[in-house]
Amino acid sequence: MRKSRACSSPAETTSHETHAQLGLCPACGAKGVSVSIQTVKVMAAISLRWLRSTSYQFCHTPHCPVVYYCVADAQTLTVDQVRERVYQKETDQSNVFICYCFRYRASDLQQATAAEYEAIIADIRAGIAAGQCACELRNPQGSCCLGNVYRALRDRG
Ligand SMILES: [Zn+2]
Repeated sequence: MRKSRACSSPAETTSHETHAQLGLCPACGAKGVSVSIQTVKVMAAISLRWLRSTSYQFCHTPHCPVVYYCVADAQTLTVDQVRERVYQKETDQSNVFICYCFRYRASDLQQATAAEYEAIIADIRAGIAAGQCACELRNPQGSCCLGNVYRALRDRG
């Protein structure tokens, strides 16, 4: 949206302020999703004394190194500052979990037949129905993985 990427530092500051005002990721400018502070506390690989807020957003953008950011002061936690590999951020997704609660990897879905895919989704749904999921504590995005699972199925064609 900005006319030039080659901006001076005052323009960068303006850009960051604008991002902060809009609640956008300070690194990629995309709109994040609000995430529970419990998720950030569990995932952070830094001292929790460093957390400057109780309000963080999760950035979904692939290749953006920021996992969590604080809207108030643009504090970021990048992929090397979280304890779990983040599905959205991995270029090689084959070995990364897509369902962190029931331990399905992206590669399990890539290799699955249509029937196996259905069985995986049924298993995840059964786990959710039985109250066995802990998305807020296990999935870095702090919410249910099913949207990602269906998206992976769609992308596979
Ligand atoms: Zn980002």
